[in-house]
Amino acid sequence: MTDAPTAQADAATALGRNDLEAYWMPFTANRQFKAAPRLMVSAKDMHYSMADGRRVLDGCSGLWCVNAGHCRDEIAEAIAAQARRMDYATAFQMAHPAAFELADRLAELAPGDIDHAFFTNSGSESVDTALKIAIAYHHRQGQGQRQRLVGREKGYHGAGFGGMSVGGIANNRKHFGMLLGGIDHLPHTHSLEHAAFSRGQPRWGAHLAEALESIIALHDASTIAAVMVEPMAGSAGVLIPPVGYLERLREICDRTGILLIFDEVITGFGRLGASFAAEYLGIVPDIITTAKGLTNGAVPMGAVLVRKEIHDAFMSGPETLPELFHGYTYSGHPLACAAALATLDLYAKEDLFARAASLAGYFEDAAHGLKDLDHVVDIRNLGLVAGIELEAAPGAPGARGYDVFLRCLEKGVLVRYTGDIIATSPPLIIEKSQIDELFGTVGEAIEETV
Ligand code: PLP
Repeated sequence: MTDAPTAQADAATALGRNDLEAYWMPFTANRQFKAAPRLMVSAKDMHYSMADGRRVLDGCSGLWCVNAGHCRDEIAEAIAAQARRMDYATAFQMAHPAAFELADRLAELAPGDIDHAFFTNSGSESVDTALKIAIAYHHRQGQGQRQRLVGREKGYHGAGFGGMSVGGIANNRKHFGMLLGGIDHLPHTHSLEHAAFSRGQPRWGAHLAEALESIIALHDASTIAAVMVEPMAGSAGVLIPPVGYLERLREICDRTGILLIFDEVITGFGRLGASFAAEYLGIVPDIITTAKGLTNGAVPMGAVLVRKEIHDAFMSGPETLPELFHGYTYSGHPLACAAALATLDLYAKEDLFARAASLAGYFEDAAHGLKDLDHVVDIRNLGLVAGIELEAAPGAPGARGYDVFLRCLEKGVLVRYTGDIIATSPPLIIEKSQIDELFGTVGEAIEETV
């Protein structure tokens, strides 16, 4: 029998420059990558193996998704068994049992009265689904004028038109012409001046939630459907919610009937040391978007979790018609459901959310151990997430972040970089010695960068 990882490694090593051409890579500097490709060929637990045979510690859970570590047997076996039993089940007007079981499990895990799940295939689809549900919910309630949406500067909500429009990252928006109209943005909460080197939630910044009052004053709450924020923003470079900030958003939304949507695509499933950021922070939103850790990254899947009242508002009118004209061919895909159920079992069996919580203090200390290095202007952390912000090299924003990323990879550690911010979010199975290795390596790379 062929050893699959070895065969793949051979194939990767044999790839010539031209073989790389056809694949247009996502969110990647294609020409730069193809000039010096970084190819991964297998993975297990905390490590990737590269095409050149090197082992690399995964300091970012793939892309914030492999929370239980790579290639876990339980998940791989569940996917394989399902693929043999039933590869696909028609998703509209038909269904299969595992989708119902998974929805039940998610309802149990979700905070408060969030008790229904709508399945998607990605974080971006979860975001668009949540926005559509919010607007349609108000329509159902006889408030069809509530169509405006509120996002936040530096927010990342995926790459669809809805998420891009609610999102607040200029590079993700500026090339794409017509964004959705009727969207306002709250100011972001990033401040080197007031909150640098905060451990956990910064004490400064709750007042920034008052900007929602200004938006309401401008448009009137009766025209606003929902506010969408990441409870902890990852993609823009790890922005931690100030103490009291999300509570204030919740209060304003409660008072005005605006729905509060937490985009938990990266904070869901244990990242902060609880099932969701909502649970960790003690704030129940109206809708939670998820993906990534739902299946441990093994099969693409997302889920939008909604409060009972929102779901129930749709359950009226002719029983012969779909209550929500929305869905995907692969909503609740059998392989994804199998992966998700096995993943949730693994999280529970190994108590991984509690493990993340118990490691968070050690992780925080290790991250903040880099405080005195040259170029470091901020370190931020929450749960098993840390962002290390570097001063930009003169005239070359992002160059230092990229250099540190590359140096880490050469030394055997994979981290993320966003501009000049290094982000780490390792699998929740990480050992303390590996936390030392992770930050030790990042520290060496920062010391070496110019
Ligand atoms: N929302 C948030 C908060 C994310 O971090 C991401 C991806 O990183 C997305 C949405 C988009 O998810 P996907 O890439 O699965 O579409």
